[in-house]
Amino acid sequence: MQRVLIGLDIGGTKFMVAAANPTSLAVLATVKEPTPAGLEEGLSLLHAMIARVAADADIAGIGAAAGGPLDWQTGVISPLHQPAWRDVPLGRIMRDRWHAPFRCDVDTNVAALGEYHLGHYTERRLFYLTLSTGMGGGLVVDGEIYRGGLGGAHPEVGHQAVPFHCRHPARVACECGAPDCLEALISGTAIRRIYGRPAEELDDGEWAEVAWNLGQGLRNMAALYAPDIIAIGGGLARQGERLLKPARQVMLDHLKLVPAPRVEVSRLGYDTALLGAVVLAHEAAGL
Ligand SMILES: [Zn+2]
Repeated sequence: MQRVLIGLDIGGTKFMVAAANPTSLAVLATVKEPTPAGLEEGLSLLHAMIARVAADADIAGIGAAAGGPLDWQTGVISPLHQPAWRDVPLGRIMRDRWHAPFRCDVDTNVAALGEYHLGHYTERRLFYLTLSTGMGGGLVVDGEIYRGGLGGAHPEVGHQAVPFHCRHPARVACECGAPDCLEALISGTAIRRIYGRPAEELDDGEWAEVAWNLGQGLRNMAALYAPDIIAIGGGLARQGERLLKPARQVMLDHLKLVPAPRVEVSRLGYDTALLGAVVLAHEAAGL
């Protein structure tokens, strides 16, 4: 019987599910659906999506990317942007229904894992940064996600403080309550809140502020983690060198003592968390 790996990207606006070849990790089928409001509806939809992509194949492992907070060790998830999902024992639910090994992690960590393995990096330390409606990142060292302790904690790079440039400082407000978070300056949501329009419509002066703030974040990440490379994905990364060139310069101008990492656009470019979930499924299956 054919065997497949299943990757789940459980997002606040959409669910994506993929089936992949257990050896090559090549994606065989993908489905996407809007996220339902209710928990029961959401779980039924996920099961139906898995059945659709798996067809008649045997499932060798399931990996899932979800919003935090979650405990990757127990598989209990409470994604912040899905209010009906609180303390959901997703690991137990998936194992009971599909009789397959399961592993999950926060979407930013999973995206970093996908970027590293499927982007075929040879460097030992990759920092992956997602810039989309929200922002976050994950550090992969020697092919493994760097995790914190304390019940499955993980670094939250979006909530680092930066000395920012912003013509509307009163509009800088993070969901977490702190007054100077990087996410509150450069995520897609933050850009709309601060400048009143999406990133692609910013004028040069506004764009320079976004690049400065990102550059300060890059400088902090480089100084703290000394990665070989920082890869940037998510919708905002489609701006490419328009964003990266000035941000990289700010990093270089302010980074002392630590060698500067390369700063590049993501090699996968899209569906990074979904592809990373396939990598997690591969790890769960012990293949
Ligand atoms: Zn914050």
